[in-house]
Amino acid sequence: MRKKSIGAGLLYLTGVFIACTEEVKIGEADPVEIAVTDTVTRVAGPRREKGSPLSLARKRIYLTIDDSPLNGSLYIDSVIAAEQVKANIFLVGKAIEESRKFGEHFKKLQQNPYIRIYNHSYSHASHRYNEYYRNPVKVVEDFERNQLQYHILHKIARLPGRNLWRLGGRERNCDQAAGQAAKLLADEGYHIFG
Ligand SMILES: [Zn+2]
Repeated sequence: MRKKSIGAGLLYLTGVFIACTEEVKIGEADPVEIAVTDTVTRVAGPRREKGSPLSLARKRIYLTIDDSPLNGSLYIDSVIAAEQVKANIFLVGKAIEESRKFGEHFKKLQQNPYIRIYNHSYSHASHRYNEYYRNPVKVVEDFERNQLQYHILHKIARLPGRNLWRLGGRERNCDQAAGQAAKLLADEGYHIFG
C-alpha cells in the first residue's frame, strides 16, 4: 500500500471502522480464524464542511482492529509502521496467555509507536455472548482483568460480539441485554466504542 493510495482513499472515506473480521478460538494451540457477527465496516460519503467546496472538505479515516493478537497481527504491525498511519488495536488478553506466538505478536504491537492498545475484554465472552451479557458485573470484571493484566493505559473498550456506543455523552444501541454491562463499564470510566 502506498501513501498515494491512502490519500486517494481519504478523498472518498470519512469513516472506516473495521471490527472483528477475525476471531480467536480460545484454547487451541494454533487458533483458527473465522468470521463473527460483531464485524462492522462502515464507509460513508465525503462530508462537506460549511461553506467549503467538496474538494477542500476535510476527510478522515479511522482504523480500529479487533481481536488482537491474531495470525494477521504481524502484517498489521508492519503495514502500519511502513505507512506511518495511526491505528487502534482492541486487545483480547486470553489469546496472549494461551499462545506464545500471539505473545510475541502482542509485543510487536506494543512497540509500534503508531498503535494504541485498547480493551476488547480478557475472554471475548468465550464466544458465548448471550450468557456473557446476562451477568454485567462479571463483564466489568473481565474488562478490568484485561486492563490491569496488560497495562492498557486508556479506558476505551469495545464489547465482544456487540455494537454498542457510549461516547462523549452519546449512546447508541444500548437498549439491549449488553446495555447494562456497557452502563457499568461507563460508570467505571470506560468509553464504549462500537
Ligand atoms: Zn471481537
